Amino acid sequence: MLKYVDYDILFQEIPDEVTLAINLSRCPYRCKGCHSPQLQSDIGEELNEEALLRLLQRYGKSVTCICFMGGDADPERVCSLAIYLRRHWEREMKTAWYSGNREIFEKALICFDFIKTGSYIEELGGLDKQTTNQRLFRLDKGHLMEITSRLQRCSSQVR
Ligand code: SF4
Repeated sequence: MLKYVDYDILFQEIPDEVTLAINLSRCPYRCKGCHSPQLQSDIGEELNEEALLRLLQRYGKSVTCICFMGGDADPERVCSLAIYLRRHWEREMKTAWYSGNREIFEKALICFDFIKTGSYIEELGGLDKQTTNQRLFRLDKGHLMEITSRLQRCSSQVR
C-alpha cells in the first residue's frame, strides 16, 4: 500500500515540466541528512486510484507531469498507479518517479517518462550537485537517456 502525506506543484524537479509532486511515506531508506524524516514513518492517507483521480481533477489542468516522490516500499503499486493514470486520464500527462533505489525497478521502464534513482548521500549532495550519486533519466519506449546535468544548471537545491 502507498500512503501520501502532502503534495506540491514544483518547477525544477523535472526539466521543462510543471510537476505535481506527491510525497509518499513509508520510505524504507534511512539517509543521513534526510530532507523529510517524517516520510520514513507509516503516516498519511492511502494513495489509490480514487485519491489520484481527485488530485488530477483538482490540479490536472495546471500541471504537465505527475511525480511520485518515494514509494519504494511498494514499487509494484507505484507502477500500477502510473499505468492507471496513463489509461484513465484523457489529457496528456507525463509520469515521473523519484525512487530512492539505486537500481531501476524493471516494470517502471514501461510506466514512466522520467525516473530518478539513488538515495540521498549527504556527502555527495542532491541532484543539483555534480558530485551526486543520484541520476535522473528520461525514458522513451524503454530507452534511457540520462539528463541529470539539466538539474545542475538550476541554482536551488534539489534532493
Ligand atoms: S530516500 Fe528520501 S525520504 Fe527516504 S530517507 Fe532518503 S532522503 Fe529521506
